[in-house]
Amino acid sequence: MTPFFDPARETLPADALRAYQWERFAALARAVFPANPFITRQWRSVGLRSAGELRGWDDFSRLPLTRKAELVEDQTAHRPFGSNLTYPPERYVRVHQTSGTTGTPIRWLDTPESWDWWARCWGFVLRGAGIGPGDRVFFPFSFGLFIGFWAGFEGARAVGALAIPGGGQDSAQRLATMEALGATAICCTPSYALHLAEVARDRGVKLDTLGVTTAVHAGEPGAGIPSVRARIEAAWGARAHDHAGMTEMGAYGFECAAQAGLHVNESEFIAEVIDPVTGAPAREGELILSNLGRLGSPLVRYRTGDRVQVADGPCGCGRTFLRFEGGILGRVDDMLIVRGVNVFPSAIEGIVRRFPEIDEFLIEVYRRAEMDEVRLLLEVGEGDGRHLPVAVQEVVRVELGIRVEAVPVPAHSLPRYELKARRVVRRTGG
Ligand SMILES: [Zn+2]
Repeated sequence: MTPFFDPARETLPADALRAYQWERFAALARAVFPANPFITRQWRSVGLRSAGELRGWDDFSRLPLTRKAELVEDQTAHRPFGSNLTYPPERYVRVHQTSGTTGTPIRWLDTPESWDWWARCWGFVLRGAGIGPGDRVFFPFSFGLFIGFWAGFEGARAVGALAIPGGGQDSAQRLATMEALGATAICCTPSYALHLAEVARDRGVKLDTLGVTTAVHAGEPGAGIPSVRARIEAAWGARAHDHAGMTEMGAYGFECAAQAGLHVNESEFIAEVIDPVTGAPAREGELILSNLGRLGSPLVRYRTGDRVQVADGPCGCGRTFLRFEGGILGRVDDMLIVRGVNVFPSAIEGIVRRFPEIDEFLIEVYRRAEMDEVRLLLEVGEGDGRHLPVAVQEVVRVELGIRVEAVPVPAHSLPRYELKARRVVRRTGG
């Protein structure tokens, strides 16, 4: 089986890829600028009078950036779906909504064509992870308004795999379903993969001989953190692949068999990286995305709020698509400043996950004497974990240069997540 979903496009030389993107973008601009009130307003604000005035990448870079707050404002002003609609409402057949973990949820509509486009984008994700005909992909997910696994489910069809829905079951039932139906792959958040591993261990289920050889992780970044990945792979006896996507944007990032960072699907998206403060192009900074196949509800130059670092050199897999070192490194705005030192929660997670005895953790941030302080709550599963808090504190001090307080908490006392883990909590007072 070829490792590519679209061999010709995934290996296009850089110039040809840029030309192909431009052709797609110009077609999108011609369709949406006259018809989509949100885009019309936005582009007119920088003086554009017709889509034909967009002649090349310089013109593209003068289009305004789109902020999430604008989408929220627009949907508040034009309920319930906002004005970023190119066609009349009756042309749309799917509605989804963001999880709202970082603010007001936003809703997004898709046409039959853009829903097919979602499946196509997921085709790159699943085939990149080596999934194809003969695979049975399990989706341990309660199918609600969140888009991620719905689209993944469609993607399984796009690569010819059997899709197994895992809604309406608890974790133990899901393990039994996977065994009964011979699942070969699983698609879930990294947190949930670790949680299932914990449930399997507690019930004496041998996860690493279950037959699942591939895991694709969506909904949260974690799988790009080496210690998280190693832990999932050891527990499942499977290869874990990172994936990135957003309800309002699409499924844009995937990891190939080389597991060398997150590829951007540049045949369906345009990616830019900017310094979040100055807006200048950068190798490390905020990811700006535009999608090319969602004409009914497009997003152009969207500030994702995700921090990435562009990888050097070509990937061993042969794809020419852009690649981000270590996947999504964190949110631009979730950086903690602990006694003057900048720390991303993902760096703390990277350390905690190296300790196999720690099942779950929580980062508490609180203010003391006008300074951010961090307390790590560590939940120890098996064995004697008395030495762990001191050991974790020491690695954090050496590698990140900050002092944190680490305290043990009872087994099963911290929350578990099927979707969008929230392991950073701001407390008032100490
Ligand atoms: Zn690759």
